[in-house]
Amino acid sequence: MPSGEADAGRFVQCTSCRKTLFSADFEHELRVCRFCGHHHRLSARDRIACTFDEGSFEETDAGLRTVDVLKFPDYMPKHEQAVTKTGMNDSVMIGRAKLDGMPVSAGVAEFGFMGGSMGVVAGEKVTRCLERGAEEGMPVIMVCASGGARMQEGLSSLVQMAKTTVAVERCREAGVPFIAVMTDPTMAGVLASYASVADVILAEPKAMIGFAGARVSKQAQVVKAPSDFQTAEWVNKSGMVDRIVERRDMRGTLIALVRALGAHLRTGKALVGA
Ligand SMILES: [Zn+2]
Repeated sequence: MPSGEADAGRFVQCTSCRKTLFSADFEHELRVCRFCGHHHRLSARDRIACTFDEGSFEETDAGLRTVDVLKFPDYMPKHEQAVTKTGMNDSVMIGRAKLDGMPVSAGVAEFGFMGGSMGVVAGEKVTRCLERGAEEGMPVIMVCASGGARMQEGLSSLVQMAKTTVAVERCREAGVPFIAVMTDPTMAGVLASYASVADVILAEPKAMIGFAGARVSKQAQVVKAPSDFQTAEWVNKSGMVDRIVERRDMRGTLIALVRALGAHLRTGKALVGA
């Protein structure tokens, strides 16, 4: 690899196989390594760009911002840093979008915002995204990427687990399909709430999916875990994830699912057996 500042940004190294990739190719290939197929993380904005119809995403509720109820040490400076880094006010972006012309209620997590952690704002946004789908008769798509609940918000963040799960039930009552896409990582409080009760659960290859992280499992002396423990492949084998979908196929898969599962919403016909 040529060295020097002029070349900075032209190459990236795959975090899995360590091979060198042209930045332009890497971005064009949706940050998937062409050598080993490793799916590197995507920002919320990049995810929106490669998932929904071009220019169709209309963000809502962007101004919601948390308050430091617990006066948790260093929370607000860290939060401010995340706002500056991502240009978002919290770890989830929601809005209306289209998939091959079909309207959907969409939510996408930003792992770069404090590890995608779910506090009161992320929980409220996920809830609004689900409720909007139920009220307006749009399929709901949530792309998850989170380390779990936000510890700096204590119990208030754990309440979001119950709140978002109840919102999924509203979709069910309205006959609105809810599709969750688990990306690396989907852990703890997010996995154990709205994400795992979706009608269809897709995951990206090798995404870390689990409840307690590897360090916590080790502390709990879970020593006999299989080598693929807490990966998309492992939870797929156990039936927790319906299908593993490569990033380049994700948009097409979502379109097919929305077309099939949301047909009754577009034609006004009742669901069979509903
Ligand atoms: Zn690689």
